[in-house]
Amino acid sequence: MEKVVIIGTGCAGLTAAVYTARANLAPLVLTGIMPGGLLTTTSIVENFPGFPEGVDGYELMTRMQAQAEKFGARVKYGTVESVDLSKAPFTLSVDGEPVHTQTLIIASGASHRHLGLESEDKLEKKGVTYCATCDGALPLFRNQPLVVVGGGDSAAEEALYLTRFGSVVYLIHRRDQLRASKIMAERVLAHPKIKPVWDSVVTDILDVNQDKVTAVRIRNVKTNAESELACAGVFIAVGHVPNTQLFKGVIDMDDAGYIVPKRGSETNVPGVFVAGDCSDRVYRQAVTAAGMGCAAAIDAERHLAALNQ
Ligand code: NAP
Repeated sequence: MEKVVIIGTGCAGLTAAVYTARANLAPLVLTGIMPGGLLTTTSIVENFPGFPEGVDGYELMTRMQAQAEKFGARVKYGTVESVDLSKAPFTLSVDGEPVHTQTLIIASGASHRHLGLESEDKLEKKGVTYCATCDGALPLFRNQPLVVVGGGDSAAEEALYLTRFGSVVYLIHRRDQLRASKIMAERVLAHPKIKPVWDSVVTDILDVNQDKVTAVRIRNVKTNAESELACAGVFIAVGHVPNTQLFKGVIDMDDAGYIVPKRGSETNVPGVFVAGDCSDRVYRQAVTAAGMGCAAAIDAERHLAALNQ
């Protein structure tokens, strides 16, 4: 029987692991399919306090995991397939094996949103990608025109990163103003290799018949004019969707699938707590996720203390 199981090893999950481990609760921390979470796919993190020079996202997560393990957290590569939260202790099925736990911290994060085009699915990993840091340096993108879709901080970051490899980077955004933070927007708009394409949406990615990306078809949402833009890669950065499907119908969530806590990190099921991007549709920063992980750990610890009184 576990005292604490944490689902997720992003900033929220690993911070909850540091705190519950230091409380001698030896948490079991399950990685899911993306150990380290979305931050491992970013390049330099410039806004995590304590790193004036910035810190590589992968390195930050590796260090957080080492810190949690140092105090007794057990990080296990595994995917939760189903949960039974109808009574405590709770039962999870992890890669076919049952795991029983007194408390659960859900820190399952979020995944990349897709555009929803058939050609996008067919050309994924053949020129369509959701991660410039992971794929930008591939030979097929070198000295080629590249496309980034989106107008937030992720799109800005991807576009800036890709200027190292592409001949030109088209930033296609559905409005004429970036959502990205001021500092990122300024960097993007000042970069000579980045060409913004405003008020436009991607309606198709070519060429499925050739099994590789050769161009995008775009539509200007103001004029309805359609055009094609030749490119060798399409980097999609149009936001995220919370990874909460597993808890649908059991844990309260809003219409977009973000878990809605009752009080602090407590969910509607006593003993189940939530932290990070899976319950945050507003801030979604590394440091806010870490803070939420800390709060969930403290709440879980207090819940266990009350049970054992
Ligand atoms: P985001 O802020 O939600 O931005 C998503 C962008 O995609 C928006 O510009 C949105 O357009 C556009 N979009 C959404 N659906 C679309 C669709 N179907 N077709 C075309 N465009 C679509 O997401 P994000 O950029 O991934 O950022 C998420 C959070 O992480 C934010 O809080 C951000 O500040 C943070 N973050 C920070 C950094 C950093 O500080 N360096 C880096 C990465 C992420 P509209 O603008 O019209 O809605």
